[in-house]
Amino acid sequence: MRIAVCPGSFDPVTMGHLDIIRRASSLFDKVIVAVTVNPNKTPTFPAEQRVEFVQRSVRDLPNVEACCCEGLIAEFAREKGASVLVKGLRAVTDFEYEFQMALINKKLNPELETMFMTTNSAYMYLSSSAVRQVAGFGGDVADFVPAEILPDVMERFAHERSDVV
Ligand code: ADP
Repeated sequence: MRIAVCPGSFDPVTMGHLDIIRRASSLFDKVIVAVTVNPNKTPTFPAEQRVEFVQRSVRDLPNVEACCCEGLIAEFAREKGASVLVKGLRAVTDFEYEFQMALINKKLNPELETMFMTTNSAYMYLSSSAVRQVAGFGGDVADFVPAEILPDVMERFAHERSDVV
């Protein structure tokens, strides 16, 4: 069985992420979305909620599951029996960082391959931080995040704005 891992912070999951996950799900027997926990960063959405957002967004993809990853992705992949990491590339700016991560992961787990998928051009501009910025100013993010999580994303930022006022 070919298992792939799609790692990321998914804070929150976007249509760009979902496009990569969906395409990976048609290439592998099983795809595990690994929601990473970075102890040095305070995310907008807690890890459990980020996982739940992904789960809700992939309900139509039976071979996709999501869970938290608190340690090294290379170790996580080994534990899950995954042979491939799938990452999305938006632009050259993503490349340098991703290239470094791929080499580090190869060093940590030589059996693990990193594969890159080019973004769907419709989502080239999209990132979780753009979603947070637009939603933070009360803008419409309906085209940016899966419909299943839109109300929760909006509510999170509505609270934030009412706290400020
Ligand atoms: P972001 O950069 O949006 O905060 P993450 O750090 O969660 O996203 O990224 C997880 C993975 O998804 C990375 O491989 C990243 O390059 C990819 N990715 C993020 N947004 C897109 C997009 N719009 N199109 C393709 N891949 C993307």
